[in-house]
Amino acid sequence: MRTVTVLGATGSVGTSTLDLVERAPDRFRVRALTAHRDVANLAAAAIRTRAELAVVGDLAYLPALEAAVAGTGTRAAGGRAAVIEAAAGADWTMAAIVGCAGLEPVMAAIAGGGTVVLANKEPLVSAGDLVTAAARRSGATLLPADSEHNAIFQCLDASRPEGVRRIVLTASGGPFRDWLLADMARVTPQQAVAHPNWSMGAKISVDSATMMNKGLELIEAARLFPVPADRIEIVIHRQSVIHSLVDHVDGSMLAQLGPSDMRVPIAHCLAWPERMATPMPPLDLVGLGRLDFEAPDDVRFPALRLAREALVAGGAAPAILNAANEIAVAAFLDRRIGFLEIAAIVADTLTRFVPSTPETIDAVLAIDAEARGLAARRIEDRAA
Ligand code: NAD
Ligand code: MG
Repeated sequence: MRTVTVLGATGSVGTSTLDLVERAPDRFRVRALTAHRDVANLAAAAIRTRAELAVVGDLAYLPALEAAVAGTGTRAAGGRAAVIEAAAGADWTMAAIVGCAGLEPVMAAIAGGGTVVLANKEPLVSAGDLVTAAARRSGATLLPADSEHNAIFQCLDASRPEGVRRIVLTASGGPFRDWLLADMARVTPQQAVAHPNWSMGAKISVDSATMMNKGLELIEAARLFPVPADRIEIVIHRQSVIHSLVDHVDGSMLAQLGPSDMRVPIAHCLAWPERMATPMPPLDLVGLGRLDFEAPDDVRFPALRLAREALVAGGAAPAILNAANEIAVAAFLDRRIGFLEIAAIVADTLTRFVPSTPETIDAVLAIDAEARGLAARRIEDRAA
């Protein structure tokens, strides 16, 4: 019996994780579930799974959570510190908060020393080697749930990096892969969150549409795997059947294939190093018929170039890239800026300040806060 905590339990990844956990009540016991403000879904999930603890990140929502779980055996807590505190202490923790808001909870989970499953990619982008170094110190096992990184993890023998020639990250290309740049200027939030292959939260859906998601994943791959940035490539693969590939020096390429359902990589992380059954039917290869590949276009999708440049520049650049992107995506979802302005604001924020390489999580958070402020001001200035 393993204890499980899900950070961001009401989101897309959190819900998929709980779906699998609830199918195997003899294997998993829920310790803590957290959410930001979604008390109704948090309380319902906590009651259903008999969670020990339910935590709402925004303290103003604690009275509502307390009322919702009263008399059920689930304890309620609230506030940012309570989320961080709840992150440590389970055998297996899913990090599925969205954005750099997940950084401190991820660090707390890692300090706890159990298995920490990273869906939440932004902390790896912003704090990079601080996250992986903390895991080495505490003995925590980091497992990647992001489908591409999970695919690479399954295909890569990390103990023999010299045998690896390239990592190839696949990308669906998002909903605008065939659009003209001129038409992309008029994209609405509703169009941007309608992903052709995956059902995901709003922020990552917009990131997929700008392809910043693939840029963040490039940085994520460089943090997780012993392969340098210039040997990580991105290829457009519309069907999202191959989730990524590892190319070896002898000419062998290994790929992981599966349906585009996050329950597949999450199940891999839940059962690892064993396997568990999921409700997913096997891929119908004959029905699929073909798999297509194309080169990405970084003229229409400049976020790809920005992320690669930030990775190569190193230091604080990835944290600035991520923070500016979070602010710009939120502004786009609020209809305050246009779709093409997202990458423009990220590019602009990256030129505004060059802090030294952050050596601590507090330093990362300070850079994150400053970059958010600069991006927000830039958005206000252009409206004025
Ligand atoms: P989502 O928006 O659906 O869910 C986010 C969860 O985090 C919710 O439970 C929300 O209540 C909580 N949350 C939001 N802001 C918070 C804050 N400030 N403090 C505490 N909790 C907060 O997001 P998602 O699509 O499930 O994505 C979660 C993470 O996983 C992201 O980093 C994303 O990039 C990554 N990811 C998602 C998918 C996917 O298929 N959705 C795939 C790969 C990676
Ligand atoms: Mg992914």
